Amino acid sequence: MPIRQLPADLINRIAAGEVVERPASVVKELVENAIDAGSSRIVITTAGGGKALIRIEDDGHGMDRADLVLSVERHATSKLSVDDLDDIRTLGFRGEALASIGSVAELSVSSRTAKAESGLRIDVRNGIRSGPLPQAMNRGTIVEVRNLFANVPARLKFLKTDRAEAAAISDVVKRLAMANPSVHFVLNGTDRSPSNWPAITGSGALQARLAQVIGDDFALNAATLATSRHGVVVAGLAGLPTYTRANSLSQFYFVNGRSVRDKVLVGAVRAAYADYTFRDRFPVVALYIAIDPGEVDVNVHPAKAELRFRDAGAVRSAVIRAIGEALAAAGFKASTSVAE
Ligand code: ADP
Ligand code: MG
Repeated sequence: MPIRQLPADLINRIAAGEVVERPASVVKELVENAIDAGSSRIVITTAGGGKALIRIEDDGHGMDRADLVLSVERHATSKLSVDDLDDIRTLGFRGEALASIGSVAELSVSSRTAKAESGLRIDVRNGIRSGPLPQAMNRGTIVEVRNLFANVPARLKFLKTDRAEAAAISDVVKRLAMANPSVHFVLNGTDRSPSNWPAITGSGALQARLAQVIGDDFALNAATLATSRHGVVVAGLAGLPTYTRANSLSQFYFVNGRSVRDKVLVGAVRAAYADYTFRDRFPVVALYIAIDPGEVDVNVHPAKAELRFRDAGAVRSAVIRAIGEALAAAGFKASTSVAE
């Protein structure tokens, strides 16, 4: 067969596989956009485990006509300048999410800036845009995604039950809420009753948000982390050794405001609790690391859940010491000194 240049719509659909794996990844991208837009309230509504509908409404800065049209184009982003890759401070930066979603679902984006007299709406079907048309709305942005993967049957087949996809959405929103206590989150459609976590600011905001999301129980049975060592700031809550779970699903890790999975952090937590030997039990932990963005590479994985620390040793020892000190202050003294 001769070599052909692929049509843009097909390129987008292939690329979409990397960004949009399942409904929960759509929710993550859209809520991150809302956070990047400086929103103070984000309402997430889903139906059918996110396959039938995902709707995200925010009260952020919105987009004007030109930006709205550009927002669904591939590699269009307002968040990255050419030599910025080493210093990323926003959650998004690839300019791929909306274009990808528009190629694998029915997408509509409505937006209104503070200056605009009304909102505007665009629709994307099979990667083809129509609009903008006027849309009555408040300041902010509303994104609706319907019939996800209806045009990619192979992908649709691999999705789990509505209930399992809804649970994954709920987990994603929980993590985003934990990372952003000053934002009011409302989540409808993944559970019998909606989750409603009003904004919290001021000192102790993190702890209060964790109490909202994980439960008052956890906050009452945890020691507060608050240390800084070699440029690694450690905050959050470390569950008391008497408050454990049968699996590690209640261990949450954040680096510079992003929920992450990372072996260095998991290993450090395991080491920090090693002396309190629980057999097959896991401490509940919400660990927040703040570090110079130049010290981490978040560009490792398209979904950005994985990262690489430049100095993993420094991070590991900062975490071990932070937890050790917090537990000691709560009256749990390690019997031997933990290997850093
Ligand atoms: P990225 O977030 O990587 O820049 P996206 O495809 O997610 O790429 O979004 C493209 C652009 O659309 C963003 O850079 C931003 O300028 C704009 N945008 C998307 N969602 C919103 C929103 N909720 N509020 C304001 N602007 C938005
Ligand atoms: Mg984005």
